[in-house]
Amino acid sequence: MIAALMPNYNRADLAFERGEGAWLWTADGRRFLDFGAGIATSSLGHGHPGLTRAIAEQAARVMHVSNLYRVPQAEKLAQRLVDTTFADSVFFCNSGAEANEGMVKMMRKTMSETGRGERYRFICFEGAFHGRTLGMLAATGNAKYLKGFGPECAGFDHVPFNNLNAVRAAITAETAGIIIEPIQGEGGIRPAQLQFLRDLRATCDEYGLLLGLDEIQCGVGRTGKLFAHQWAGITPDVMSVAKGIGGGFPLGAVLATEAVARHMQPGTHGTTFGGNPLACAAGNAVLDVILEPGFLDGVARKGQRLWDALGAVVREFPDVFEELRGAGLMLGLKCRVPAGDVNNALMAEGMLAVTAGENVVRLVPPLVISEDDIGQGLDMVRRAARRCQPSASKVAAK
Ligand SMILES: *Cc1c(COP(=O)(O)O)cnc(C)c1O
Repeated sequence: MIAALMPNYNRADLAFERGEGAWLWTADGRRFLDFGAGIATSSLGHGHPGLTRAIAEQAARVMHVSNLYRVPQAEKLAQRLVDTTFADSVFFCNSGAEANEGMVKMMRKTMSETGRGERYRFICFEGAFHGRTLGMLAATGNAKYLKGFGPECAGFDHVPFNNLNAVRAAITAETAGIIIEPIQGEGGIRPAQLQFLRDLRATCDEYGLLLGLDEIQCGVGRTGKLFAHQWAGITPDVMSVAKGIGGGFPLGAVLATEAVARHMQPGTHGTTFGGNPLACAAGNAVLDVILEPGFLDGVARKGQRLWDALGAVVREFPDVFEELRGAGLMLGLKCRVPAGDVNNALMAEGMLAVTAGENVVRLVPPLVISEDDIGQGLDMVRRAARRCQPSASKVAAK
């Protein structure tokens, strides 16, 4: 008989009862160091006092009122995002896919309202992941995810990542814009070259296209800057955000310049839950921590320490690992043995990680992780690597 919970996930047989910082405990008392952070989402770790207090206090006061009324918590969160980014205006929603849907609608609406309604197509990239709605399945373009779900939504063209010639060759009279993750997450922690991002910005300006960034996974401090595109010194026209911004509470956002946002007049787009007082209280509590002076430098410093130490691990275990990639606390170990085996070995050593495309194991710990926990994590990675060495059984037999 089928389980009451639908079988659409491949779940590890672990159920966590509580967490603190970067650690999670199962009901039977086993402890795990969380280098997956709920897929790069629990940015403040588990049980963060500021975040849990903000949610509890807001829940007791008022959780939801709808967007028929003003929501001061949303106004405050939007203003803080406007003050700290390229954006002039912010739309709130509940998930990453919903943020991307909003971003695509805004880009199309902008074209339509500026006399270019025939421009509705987007250039996307091989290896991308933009979510699981019907629209975002097409933007993702992964045949495995599309299979069985009927006709693919029209309007998304895919070209190889980091290939400017391919992008330029794909531009037609119907192209509205380019949508890219500055660092592909699900695709295997594949960073866009900084010069490629600059070239995309220049190409969009040259052709009058809009640049849309999906920073759902790489944004909100993950790379050591508030948003990953800042490393390239460019700004997008519109950007989707989710995962880390709620610290585990469902919250998504679309950030846009005025030139885009001004077309989203009353009635053009909406969502019932989006930007409610509870979700925005969580978002504000996350920003309280991430915008604290020195916090992002700390993320960059911890990322550099992991980068140096994991690079040494890759060199020490060349039969297990091929390459280290990523930025800040968004790192990927490309494996020579199956990434699932490495992930299982990490779990056996007490560490939670996440696999990704291209046979990569993702290490995306909470941004608040301590130096001591990083040290323990590195020991776990080394021990897991030893377990995965193809010659391990022979060595043990000697
Ligand atoms: C997770 C993710 C999404 C989808 O977010 P959901 O909240 O699962 O809908 C979209 N884009 C990127 C880059 C992601 O990492």
